[in-house]
Amino acid sequence: MQDEQFMRHALMLAKKAEEAGEVPVGAVMVLDNEIIAEGYNQPILSHDPSAHAEMIAIRAAAKKLSNYRLLNTTLYVTLEPCTMCLGAMVHARIKRLVYAASDPKTGVIESAAKLANSTFFNHRLEVSSGILADESAAMLRAFFQSRR
Ligand SMILES: [Zn+2]
Repeated sequence: MQDEQFMRHALMLAKKAEEAGEVPVGAVMVLDNEIIAEGYNQPILSHDPSAHAEMIAIRAAAKKLSNYRLLNTTLYVTLEPCTMCLGAMVHARIKRLVYAASDPKTGVIESAAKLANSTFFNHRLEVSSGILADESAAMLRAFFQSRR
């Protein structure tokens, strides 16, 4: 299935974040079944609190398309997005969000809050979740255990 294939790529990016000592989260932006941009979590290394995987992938996709609207794109990310990243997705008019593991602490799609369909947003995302969730959750768990 396409979703799984793209999520595998995002998991590979999450691995890169892990190797750099960052929380392992990866993201890819897809348009017409092709990856147009990617990113992985790197707020510590880049001294940038906004350097979540999704933000990096969204910025790179916008540059590539020379457009601040990312219509008809799908964002794949290995962890449920936070408020900042969901906000950026809405601003970018991303069509569909696919994420792997849920994040009970800061995830705002289904976990800590359910904001994706907020009436104060002027754009609605289609959302799918759970794709390769076990792989992503296992990587995150191993990362946090090794840091203790
Ligand atoms: Zn985020």
